[in-house]
Amino acid sequence: MTPSYRFPCLLAVTASLLFALTSSAQFYGDPPDEIHPWAVHDMNRPQPPVITPAAEPMAPPSDAVVLFDGSDLSKWKLTKPKPGKEWAIVDGCLECVPGSGYIQTVEEFGDCQLHIEWASPLEAKGDGQGRGNSGVFFMGRTEVQVLDCYQNETYPDGMAGSVYGVNPPLVNALRPRGEFNSYDIIFRRPIFKDGVEVDPGYFTVFCNGVLIQDHTKLEGGGGHRGRSKPKEFPEVGPLQLQDHGNPVRFRNIWYRPLPKRAVEGGVVGQLSKEQTTAKRAEIAKGLRDEAAKLEDAQNPVPQLEKAMESLIYAEDQWALDLVTKLSDQHVSALSSLSPDQQENRKGEIDGLEKKMSHMVKFGRLPEGFAAHGVLQSIIDERGWRKKK
Ligand code: MG
Repeated sequence: MTPSYRFPCLLAVTASLLFALTSSAQFYGDPPDEIHPWAVHDMNRPQPPVITPAAEPMAPPSDAVVLFDGSDLSKWKLTKPKPGKEWAIVDGCLECVPGSGYIQTVEEFGDCQLHIEWASPLEAKGDGQGRGNSGVFFMGRTEVQVLDCYQNETYPDGMAGSVYGVNPPLVNALRPRGEFNSYDIIFRRPIFKDGVEVDPGYFTVFCNGVLIQDHTKLEGGGGHRGRSKPKEFPEVGPLQLQDHGNPVRFRNIWYRPLPKRAVEGGVVGQLSKEQTTAKRAEIAKGLRDEAAKLEDAQNPVPQLEKAMESLIYAEDQWALDLVTKLSDQHVSALSSLSPDQQENRKGEIDGLEKKMSHMVKFGRLPEGFAAHGVLQSIIDERGWRKKK
């Protein structure tokens, strides 16, 4: 056989193995439990959305919202407009014009992944907090500091990349003055339920690709001089850029909204027991509905396996009765086949026995489930597996 023939054969074998695995994954890994609504390797778990990453580093992926691409300020407005004072577009960059005040997005949003690039003025003027100061304010409330900290020391919890007044960056990864730095920021706002904090909110920040904030708690968001206390944030707010009196430039600003966390009813992070129970019941109901449509006197296996699958997620008497009835009928028919006929259906018999073993092992079918015992007898008689 030439290599050109061998290669498609290998592909076909790989594809069939993959199909065999994925088509029965719910009967394969550890099943759902109190805080996991899905089995390990569960093919019923929703597939993540497909997006297209950017062709170039730092460019927005397909699901990003572009806030500034160098062309216009249509997505921005001043927080307190003043006559004759506006941020400017200079060389395709958004430049702070001192005295014009903070600028903010027209659109309001909450949890996000933000990309932004900034450069402090080439000429060093002032020192400490007075040199090349601006800032990225999430929801207008909490600042990731923008500051010329290239050979310019200040208090660490207020230097570039700090969560201002809360936590310094892990390292100073800034480029020399005048060059652009990138921030990639993951922002999660604090979540309160009935006045009680259930998630403090976090910043994770990369500066020029280097991790500088590692899941840093917001502690209320920080601020100047005073220690902030945990407080509730609204669901959305504007992104603001600070006017601190220095002509700092920004470019290439985009964000991706992030899905909700489990603590606010989403699926990111660990679900509560109540959420898990509800999700398992929802999955089981969907599978029972599918099973109900699969009735076929000539071939009961698809309906049997779908009803079995539903029992992996939640108990249900209708599904158990259906599994019992169909498996009794089907296994009885299998056991009455001749040895040759059973050999021809070895894969089916073996596969069904493995699925039932999995379900008995994890309590989804009762110990001593009759049809399971019959399948094991057929396998023993045919000598298909080594006896332990
Ligand atoms: Mg600032």
